[in-house]
Amino acid sequence: MELNTGDVMRRLPAVDELLREPELETLLAEHPRALVVAAVREVLQQWRETVRAEPERVPGSREELAAAIVQEVTITVRAKARPALRRVINATGVVLHTNLGRAVLSDKALRAVHEAAAHYSNLEFNLETGRRGSRYALVEDLLKLLTGTESCLVVNNNAAAVLLALSTLAAGREVIVSRGQLVEIGGSFRIPEVMKQSGARLVEVGATNKTHLRDYRDAITSETALLLHVHASNYRIVGFTHEVGLEELVALGREHGLPVMSDLGSGFLVDLSRFGYPYEPTVQETAGAGVDVVTFSGDKLLGGPQAGIIVGRREVVDRMKKNPLTRAVRVDKMTLAALEATLREYLDPEGALERIPTLRMLSVGAVVLAEKARRLAGLLGAALGDRAEVGVEEDFSQVGGGALPTAQPKTVLVTVRPKALSLTELTARLRAADPAVVGRVQEERLCLDPRTIAEDEFVLLTGTLDRVLGVPQ
Ligand SMILES: *Cc1c(COP(=O)(O)O)cnc(C)c1O
Repeated sequence: MELNTGDVMRRLPAVDELLREPELETLLAEHPRALVVAAVREVLQQWRETVRAEPERVPGSREELAAAIVQEVTITVRAKARPALRRVINATGVVLHTNLGRAVLSDKALRAVHEAAAHYSNLEFNLETGRRGSRYALVEDLLKLLTGTESCLVVNNNAAAVLLALSTLAAGREVIVSRGQLVEIGGSFRIPEVMKQSGARLVEVGATNKTHLRDYRDAITSETALLLHVHASNYRIVGFTHEVGLEELVALGREHGLPVMSDLGSGFLVDLSRFGYPYEPTVQETAGAGVDVVTFSGDKLLGGPQAGIIVGRREVVDRMKKNPLTRAVRVDKMTLAALEATLREYLDPEGALERIPTLRMLSVGAVVLAEKARRLAGLLGAALGDRAEVGVEEDFSQVGGGALPTAQPKTVLVTVRPKALSLTELTARLRAADPAVVGRVQEERLCLDPRTIAEDEFVLLTGTLDRVLGVPQ
């Protein structure tokens, strides 16, 4: 018998009718009405589509249909009631995981954010004079001290810092960059595109693998405004290569009266090479080479909040402060609070390695990692019993965040092979858990890297795995 869509459609209950169902009344007592009504509308809309596409799938009795709808509404309301931005246990071993929020803040930075957000502050008020102050002055002394520069400016992120610098120093004129440095950072941040947005004209010199000083020199014209050096933060060109060093570039700039800028990407304030990482220039070294402007991120290796930090010569930074674009990329008070607290840690570099989570995770020793792995494997083994095979094995972590791309810090992984569940199902359930757990899948196992898992997350992580694996079959 052919089903009449109109008849089936009339079987769908009205919104008001549904809201009077006992289960939905309970939901209404626990959740905002707007959320429940939105869920009811959403579920009804899906049923309308089902009526149109597959009317035979709609239950024949009104009661049965209402029960199905109520059940779906309950699930939908629960999903809508969860915060969209949720905590994740990062078991990937990627310390600066951009998708998982990059740097985790230090305790002091957290307290500073709370203080700045919960109360009024002197954000733009000079407490000495009682007059208007500048938010940019708050971290100026610290940044000058730590980087040995004359002046600084903090904006929303490093992409904004680069855009602001190019727009201020070179709009309508030419910027010379080596072909080997036309990087893409991810998403749509590519040097040529940022250059276009800033109104500056890109002049590429050299070849992908080799650029010489004479290439820059030959490209300088009366239209040249800036020599730009972009640090290859997220890739390496190896083999038959040559890039011009910063000192040489600075000397060339001086000779022609041109400013030189370095986009460092990740902002190292301490050298991590003693922990086995490849050498990377610090902000101090880069500025010390005589560069006029250095830009770097607040939430990469610095381990602070998302921010773009510009340090350099006073005259050059002052021009940026006056650019109207600065207002559009203005940094927030919570960011400044977190940044100041993070920078203060660097006054004691050894303490910073302990207290800034990013640095702690990067500098943690092999013995500590092995011990962490053993402890976690012990907890998991005891909790999961026959439901999974738990093991430990040596492997490598990653720095992430487009920093130290060739570094392969050694780690000890905890591996979990579920017996009655597919890995796809296990990882999906872990993503749906609260907090969600994200690990790595390697060779048919879930791998958990203790480098990025805090000790105090072990019990939580074990409980979550225990729950999502369910009762043994
Ligand atoms: C990461 C990076 C950027 C962008 O920094 P964000 O703080 O993510 O905006 C720009 N330039 C380089 C070289 C980078 O590595």
